[in-house]
Amino acid sequence: MADPVLATHGLSKAFGALQASDAISLELRAGEIHAVIGPNGAGKSTLIAQICGSLAPDAGRVEFLGRDVTQESTQARAARGLARTFQTSALAMEDTVLQNALLGALGASGRPWRFFSRASRDAALLDRAEAALEAVGIADLCELRTAELSHGQRRQLEVAVALTLEPKAFVMDEPMAGLGQEGSKRLTGFLDGLRAQAPILLVEHDMDAVFALADRISVLVYGKVIATGSVAEIRRDPLVRDAYLGD
Ligand code: ADP
Ligand code: MG
Repeated sequence: MADPVLATHGLSKAFGALQASDAISLELRAGEIHAVIGPNGAGKSTLIAQICGSLAPDAGRVEFLGRDVTQESTQARAARGLARTFQTSALAMEDTVLQNALLGALGASGRPWRFFSRASRDAALLDRAEAALEAVGIADLCELRTAELSHGQRRQLEVAVALTLEPKAFVMDEPMAGLGQEGSKRLTGFLDGLRAQAPILLVEHDMDAVFALADRISVLVYGKVIATGSVAEIRRDPLVRDAYLGD
C-alpha cells in the first residue's frame, strides 16, 4: 500500500495524572476520510493539537508526507500543506468574508502580515482567496462582515480559509458542531467531494455525517484507540457499541 499522507506513531501526552493521549498510532491515506470518534474528554482535540503542532507530545512522532515533523512549528506544518479547522472559530469577525480568505491566502504565500493592506490589490492572492470561497459555495457573500454570516456559513468560510493553503491534508475538529440538519447535510456533501483534493482526518460527533462520509473510523476512549475499521466494522464492534455508541 502507498505510504500514508499523515501518520502518528505512539503519540502520548499526559496532563498531570491524566493520560490524554496513550500511544496513539493512526494513518491518513490518500483520498480518504478517516473519522476519529469518541466521547467528550476522550482526547480528540488533544490528538489534533499534537498532529498540527500546537501541543508537543511527551512521546511518539508525527509524519507528514513521509517526513518526521514532530519538532516543527504549526506554521511550518501548515506551509507543507497541513490544514486545520478549529472546534471554535478562529475567524476575524469584524472583517469581511473576502478579507478572511485573503488573510488565509496571504499566510499561505508566506508573506509577512504587514503586506495585508496591499493583499486586496494582489491579483494572485485575490484569485486564490476567491477560488477558495467559490469552492465552498460562499463567493456571493464575500462583501459581508463575517459576524453577519450564519453559523453554517462561518464553518464554510473556515474550510475556505484552510483551502487557500492548497492543502495536502485536512485536519478538522467537529466541523458539524452547531450546524442544523440542513447545514450538516450541505457540509457533508462538500466534504464528500473534498477528499479527492486532499484526505481528511475528521473528528466529529455527528454520527450521521461520520457514517455517511468515513472510509475508516478510529474510536478513541480515554486517550486510546480501541478500534479502527470501516463503518460496518465499527458499527458491529461490541467494544465500540459498549464504550461509545451505547446501544
Ligand atoms: P475531546 O476533544 O475528545 O473532548 P480533549 O482532547 O479536549 O477531549 O481533552 C482530553 C482530556 O484532556 C480531558 O480530560 C481534558 O480535560 C484534558 N485536557 C485537555 N487539554 C488540557 C490542558 N491543557 N490541561 C489539562 N488538561 C487538559
Ligand atoms: Mg474536542
